[in-house]
Amino acid sequence: MRHFSALLLVVTALSARATTSSFTIVASFYPVYIATKNVTRDAPGVDLRSLAPPTTGCLHDYQLTPADILLLERADVLVLNGAGMEPMLASWIKQHPHLPVIDSSEGIPLIMQSSLHAHLTCHHPLPHEQEHPCHHPVPNPHYWLSVTRHMRQVENIAMGLAAADPLRAAYYLTNAASYVATLRHLRCELRRILADLPQRELITMHDAFPYFAQEFGFTIIAVIQSEPGQAPSARRLAELAQLIRAKGLRAIFAEPQYSDAPARTLARETGAAVAMLDPIVTGPDDLDAYCAAMRRNAQTLRTSLTTPLPALSPPPHISKSLSPNPADTCAADPTNACFAK
Ligand SMILES: [Zn+2]
Repeated sequence: MRHFSALLLVVTALSARATTSSFTIVASFYPVYIATKNVTRDAPGVDLRSLAPPTTGCLHDYQLTPADILLLERADVLVLNGAGMEPMLASWIKQHPHLPVIDSSEGIPLIMQSSLHAHLTCHHPLPHEQEHPCHHPVPNPHYWLSVTRHMRQVENIAMGLAAADPLRAAYYLTNAASYVATLRHLRCELRRILADLPQRELITMHDAFPYFAQEFGFTIIAVIQSEPGQAPSARRLAELAQLIRAKGLRAIFAEPQYSDAPARTLARETGAAVAMLDPIVTGPDDLDAYCAAMRRNAQTLRTSLTTPLPALSPPPHISKSLSPNPADTCAADPTNACFAK
């Protein structure tokens, strides 16, 4: 952070030299694209593209298309999520060593998991396989769902772009400082929304939420799809139903990018509600898309985890005594430590 601030001071003096010549930035997929969109805001001549369309979702099984190759060929810089999210780009990058590549996960603490359960991919393919399940821990790549890690990701993108395109460095670093401040406020708001929930154990659709859970004090006790996009077996569903009943879970969490059919089956079996948590791998082309989706997620959790199961419904006067939504008072409390820079 100290390096980031120092760099910002130096390049601000150079801002008058910002050029209008074209500079093509390719971001690998949606959350990296939205972060980079904020970092490059109003920078003249920047042509920002997302490699995977914003409807793609996670890149766990993504294959490069001919159009992707054409876009990569004209990129001036490539911005990756890193942490194993883009295995399909490894060989292309190796064959194009001249292209600056920003790994926005650099220096960010990652949660290590067994790929046999998390459908993660090794960085070191075996000689006869491009990808294979690892029998040792590999990073979970969904770190942008921790606001703290996402702040660092935004700074990494800005510093990488400033190095690759010094003439627009002042834009990148100033925008990043402003967006990180916004994210710091968002983190405070989410902490307030998610405080004091009666239930903090979650079952989610795929393994996207451990960073979010770690940051906001939840525990992921199971995922419905151990392989993204693949329906769970009947045996797996029975195990999950037993777990939901044993824990008395009020809700199970599907994702907008996957079918909610398995979650609905579990809901019918157990009486738990189905709610949507968005891993923010698809969405609108908006600067505030990440913040808006994180707020929706937090409100969804609050609503779902404070709504009693039908069989356990208390009388109306008790349910009204649930604590008020603390987000309403977050911005009005300037003494809150979350707002300290
Ligand atoms: Zn994923």
